[in-house]
Amino acid sequence: MKVNPTYQTKDQLLELYNKPLLELVFEAASIHRQYHNPREVQMSSLLSIKTGGCPEDCGYCPQAARYHTDVDAHKLMTVESVVEQAKNAKANGSSRLCMGAAWREVRDNRDFDNVVEMVQEVNNLGMEVCCTLGMLNEQQAQRLKNAGLFAYNHNLDTSPEYYGDVISTREYEDRLNTIENARKAGITVCSGGIIGMGEAVEDRVGLLMSYMKMENPPESIPINALVAVEGTPLEDQKPIEQWEMIRMVATTRIVFPQAIVRLSAGRTKMNKEAQALCFLAGAGSIFAGDKLLTTPNPDFNEDKEMFDILGLIPKVPFKDAEQPVSLPDEKIEDRKRNEALRAKELEVARAQAVHNGFEPRKIKTVDSQA
Ligand code: SF4
Repeated sequence: MKVNPTYQTKDQLLELYNKPLLELVFEAASIHRQYHNPREVQMSSLLSIKTGGCPEDCGYCPQAARYHTDVDAHKLMTVESVVEQAKNAKANGSSRLCMGAAWREVRDNRDFDNVVEMVQEVNNLGMEVCCTLGMLNEQQAQRLKNAGLFAYNHNLDTSPEYYGDVISTREYEDRLNTIENARKAGITVCSGGIIGMGEAVEDRVGLLMSYMKMENPPESIPINALVAVEGTPLEDQKPIEQWEMIRMVATTRIVFPQAIVRLSAGRTKMNKEAQALCFLAGAGSIFAGDKLLTTPNPDFNEDKEMFDILGLIPKVPFKDAEQPVSLPDEKIEDRKRNEALRAKELEVARAQAVHNGFEPRKIKTVDSQA
């Protein structure tokens, strides 16, 4: 059951969302137990592999170049440092690594080759690999799939009606197309939204309606509370009530019984009791580690303490689907072959030079002239 057939219209969803809270949580908890082990919660880590300088204008995002925030732009991390971070995350209990790049879209360049290599390497560590890289086309999605990508994240953020109030540089339709491209490549889809951006409850259920209309709704639905960052257009938004997060998690769980509902950004503003209600209502994942891309998040130890109190256990990777196989990537293999060839040629040239009695010319530096 991908979508709960009891709830088909926006009015029904609104009624569900507005139910007396404990009844809503009870219904969600009952459904959650039918499809998931309620003690298991997946710990995922979200790593910003390329930070800031984004040309888009998402009103909540401190990484948009046009807003004056504290975020410093950084170029793409190296494959080695990503692998190191992935190993750390794994050692701390994370079974999924989500790599985020502040790009409008994926371009077929050296950076993308490196991301493909990161996917291969992290998948080979035995972690579920997710990427969030902006818009991507079918060929790029296929390349990521071949590299072993488990999931592609592309959030719809909010309802189609409210979307234009938050983002103007790309259309809702563009987002739907990217999700479709990931789907066509056989990658699982992670897509969700943000509440607390000034939207109405109608927009929250409107977001869920967008997923209900899909032939294949997302396997993973992150629910974020806005983290209002100074310098962004949404900086003055008041933090959302914890109850609203619980309602949104519960409603999402009931409507999509099989999906993993992820309790994502905004947990620093929630106490453990409210998070516990979210787990009861069907949240099956959190992001672990003290940073969510660029915004704060509870650290590993705090979450470990919460897991111990609540009797939760971290979910092992690939419980819901098989681990993808990382196939060799033609472009990367070509590059490696060329690099090996160049290194060989250099070695031969050096040996030849030594053989011919060549001595490297000494260049006088300013110091040595003195
Ligand atoms: S959310 Fe993504 S696309 Fe939007 S501004 Fe931030 S980095 Fe760019």
